[in-house]
Amino acid sequence: MPPVTLGALAARLPRTPLTRFAPSPTGYLHLGHVVNAIWVWGLARALEGRVLLRLEDHDRGRCRSDYEAALLEDLDWLGLAPDLGPTRQRDATAVYLDTLAALERRGLVYACDCSRRDISREGGDVPHLETRYPGRCRDRGLPSGEGRGQRLRLADTVERFTDELLGPQEQVPALQCGDPLLRDRHGNWTYQFAVVVDDLRQGVDLVVRGADLVGSTGRQIALGRLLGRDDPPVYLHHPLLRRPDGAKLSKAAGDTGIRELRAAGVSAPAVLGRAAEAAGLTTDARPLPADELARLFTGA
Ligand code: GLU
Repeated sequence: MPPVTLGALAARLPRTPLTRFAPSPTGYLHLGHVVNAIWVWGLARALEGRVLLRLEDHDRGRCRSDYEAALLEDLDWLGLAPDLGPTRQRDATAVYLDTLAALERRGLVYACDCSRRDISREGGDVPHLETRYPGRCRDRGLPSGEGRGQRLRLADTVERFTDELLGPQEQVPALQCGDPLLRDRHGNWTYQFAVVVDDLRQGVDLVVRGADLVGSTGRQIALGRLLGRDDPPVYLHHPLLRRPDGAKLSKAAGDTGIRELRAAGVSAPAVLGRAAEAAGLTTDARPLPADELARLFTGA
């Protein structure tokens, strides 16, 4: 049985919805990315929508052009062709600066000189829980500049949304993370800021991503609203691929790299088939060509 009710999902979306695949070029493509890509392309095709490829290279210190080139090449080899893009966050500096300036004019941004250590000490770091920014710089009136981050003054709202797989969700970003960073003290745009600005300006209607990001959704909806988006995208957070020992896959786990599988002579449909099975989308790992991904969701 398909994991989502397609008709119900389509009813929440425009006729030709836009979704996105948004990897960060901080490593090589691995099976975890492929699982996400199967959900993204499969749903887009099943809904007769479009896929935007967005390279999330906001962290200039960790992104590399060789990773980016390899990512594009591996996607192409898998047969996963986007309808739009690739776009790159490094090309959007002017948009981010304008957006930040507009928030600043409304008194919603403040400079922060806290180090990670200051924050965990004051916030009372609880292992496995997100560290909440305790608001130390909120009312200090520090001028922005070299070595200082910039944070969003977030209201104490309850954010409610219905995830297409997980059902109704309720989050209070002020309690989860406190005021989020928009730009860090090295001048990098943060993931939370760039993703919201991009989903808005690029007209993304459907966000399909791993369940590890569900906790970020409330704050993204809140920031989106401040930027004028009253109707947030539709969200679907899917289960992550796990290793048999229960650990989440990471780019460091060499056994799941697409480059390694290619070098070992595994075909592209075999990689997709393996990923679909490991994600629980199929009951066997038989090869799955990229142009047949829709049937995982249409049940055809
Ligand atoms: N760039 C993020 C990642 O690679 C995905 C962000 C998102 O889908 O919102 O994990």
